[in-house]
Formats: sequence, C-alpha cells, structure tokens
Amino acid sequence: MQTSFTPAQLADPQVAESEKILRKCVHCGFCTATCPTYVTLGNELDSPRGRIYLIKDMLENGRAADKETVLHIDRCLSCLACMTTCPSGVNYMHLVDHARAHIEETYKRPLADRFIRAVLAFVLPYPSRFRAALKLARFGRSLSGLFGKVPRLRPLSSMLRLAPSAVPPASKAALPGRHAPAGERRGRVAIVTGCAQPVLDPGINEATISLLNRLGVEVVVPEGEGCCGALVHHMGREEQALAFARKNVDAWLKLADQGGLDAIIITASGCGTTIKDYGFMLRLDPAYAQKAARVSALARDITEYLATLDLPQPVIAPGLTVAYHSACSMQHGQKITRQPKELLTRAGFVVREPREGHLCCGSAGTYNILQPEISARLRDRKVQNIEATRADVIATGNIGCITQIATAAKMPIVHTVELLDWAYGGRKPAGVPEAKEAVRV
Ligand code: SF4
Ligand code: SF4
Repeated sequence: MQTSFTPAQLADPQVAESEKILRKCVHCGFCTATCPTYVTLGNELDSPRGRIYLIKDMLENGRAADKETVLHIDRCLSCLACMTTCPSGVNYMHLVDHARAHIEETYKRPLADRFIRAVLAFVLPYPSRFRAALKLARFGRSLSGLFGKVPRLRPLSSMLRLAPSAVPPASKAALPGRHAPAGERRGRVAIVTGCAQPVLDPGINEATISLLNRLGVEVVVPEGEGCCGALVHHMGREEQALAFARKNVDAWLKLADQGGLDAIIITASGCGTTIKDYGFMLRLDPAYAQKAARVSALARDITEYLATLDLPQPVIAPGLTVAYHSACSMQHGQKITRQPKELLTRAGFVVREPREGHLCCGSAGTYNILQPEISARLRDRKVQNIEATRADVIATGNIGCITQIATAAKMPIVHTVELLDWAYGGRKPAGVPEAKEAVRV
C-alpha cells in the first residue's frame, strides 16, 4: 500500500512503525473471510482491510479520531485472525494498538462510555477490587434488564450478567511464595497469577502449581507482580499498560537474577500474547527495552512449557471426549496450536475440534461488556459449533473464553491444565464427568 506520510510525521517512532506495517498491505482482502466482525456484520469497514484504510487515513492526515473510525475500531475484537490469514505479514496487532492509543488521546467519548471504561480500568486489573465488585454485582443483578433497555448503559447490563452468582474464596496459590516439588528439582519457573483469573477461577493456578510440582518443577509466585496490562492496553490506555508492564518486568527479573528461571508461566493466553509483546511495547524506553525483551523471551504458555517436559504415563485414563476451543490469543496471538491438543491426547482424552475454530467466541477482554450485541452473536455461533461435537467437556486456555462460553453452553468448560492435572494425579475439576475407565496407578 502506498503511503504519504511527511518526514516530520515519520520522525515519530510510533508513526514510522505503523507506516512500515501499512506499506506491507496489498489490499488482497484475504483477511476479510476470517474476520469475525466482517463475517457477522458484512460491512467492509468492519473488516481488517477496511479498518486498515481508516487507520491510514487518520494517521496520514494527522487528525483526531472521528466518530466513524472509533465505531469500527471499537468493534474490532483484536482476535488477530487476520494476522494468521494475511499472506503479506501485516502486523495488524501493532497497528490497531497504535490506533487505539491515538483514539484515547484525541477522541472525547460520550460521558456514559467514558464512565464505563474508567470503571473497567479501575476495577478489572486489581483482584481485590474485582472481587469486591463481583460481590456487589450480586445485589445489582436485578437491574441488568433495566440497563439493557438504555443503549448507552448496555455495557453495565452485560457486566452484571457476566458476574458469577457466587465468588469462590481466594486461594493461597495466588499469594507470593515458593511452591517446592516433593522430590528432586528439575526446573524453576515463575507463575503469572493474573488479575481476573484468580478471582473467577482460582482452581486454574492451583492445578498448574500442583501439576508442575508433581513433575519436579519449583513454582514461584513473585512478590510485586500484577495485571499484565492487556485489559487497559486494548482500551488504548497506553501509559497504564506500560506501567503494569514495567512493574512486572522488575518483579520477574528480580527472581530470574536471584535464583534463575527457566520460564515465566502464563495460564491465560490473553495475558501471554501481551507479555510476549512487552519487548515491543517497551522498545522506546531505554531503561526497560532490553529487560522487557528478556521477559518476553522467557514467557511461555503452560501448555508450551509442559510440552518441553519429559512427561510420565498418566495416572488415570479419563476416556472423556474433549472439545478443544483454541482461544484467539492462543492460536492467532501466540501461534500455539499443536501443544494443547497433543498434551490432552497423550493424557488419555479424545480431542475434537469444533467447526470454525478460527472464529472468536466474542469474549476478547472487555469486548463482551463494551460490545454486547456482536459478542453475543459470536458466542452463540461458537457454542453451537462446540455442542455439535457432542463432547463430554470443553477445554480452553483462557479465562475470558471460559467465562464467555459458560454463559451459553450446556457442557462443562474448564482450563486445559485442569484436565492435565487430573490425568496426572491431581483432583478432578468441578463439573467434569467421572473418568470412564478404572484408575490405572
Ligand atoms: S483483529 Fe479480529 S476482529 Fe479485528 S480486524 Fe482482525 S480479524 Fe477482524
Ligand atoms: S490479507 Fe493482509 S495484505 Fe491482504 S488486505 Fe488483509 S491485511 Fe492487507
């Protein structure tokens, strides 16, 4: 694609980076076929190619974001299916991240929108605030229908609808400390405990630590780590996202320098995509550029890490059929497609892949709150495809997808690592049917 940025514009490193990305796009439109919003809405401006034109126009003319551009960029899920499809290697992720930051800087959203976004950014990245908000949501759930009737307040209605009816008690697994294996130590990792995940489903980190410990790996929950920054990053709140990233870089590298780390383990693929991008996000910060690149190089999804270990025979033969839902941040963001399915198969599960596996479930961070209508259409399509597999249980590697799919699916849904932990001697995840064969020992 031809661009016409001025030398003065290109002196801005963010603009220079986006210009490089824009020039790679050859307008072929292959990406439109796999874009969930184009597939759902059928509007070129809700396709990757359409958004690329809107971003180009906004940046090239050095103008503030307008209502139309904001509408179509806000509708983008950042699912990155377009990056998997694109034959020219267009880095849509970095382009849309820049566009979102530009929107945040130059566009004044309506009051209700600003309020909802401010609440999300204040609450979601902090487990104690999120836990308190979920408890409060129980009292406000009756207002969900009322809020749903006022278009500007629909996100509040979605927030209340998505809140679980009971909040599990806080787990000790999320507290800073060392979880040592019983026998000989074969490795040492840090675990990213996350912000929303330990509140919604503390069992995921518990299963991860328990499984790794049984496999001889020491797991450390670092002092001082926090939200990875993905939630606010996708809302264009760049400074807040970078502040989270710097804090985490300090916490994780302190551990790496003190006792060595084989990996930084992530159990939410949405966080994994962002942490693996810290090196890029902090590239312009001389004090953090190298350190952030080091952190990104150490970051591993739990399934990526488990696939490098010499695994024993499973303790039980579950014999259950699993519908594996590959989160967008897993398959498109991190290009992890093989390992979760191979690990499940090796552990004795029969893996089935739902149709249209490349399409997003509509969760996408805060998308299911901010864009409830499109999100619900994508969720229903996803659930229909998953249920057609007639599996016993759904497995995925991202808490956002678990929460989203659980609101409509009749089958139980768990994190992949919870099934693996069970097969290798851990506890059975709640809601999952009993193993079909006897314990092998
Ligand atoms: S990130 Fe997803 S929703 Fe956004 S343009 Fe790409 S394919 Fe479409
Ligand atoms: S597939 Fe890639 S090159 Fe083709 S229009 Fe989409 S982003 Fe541009």
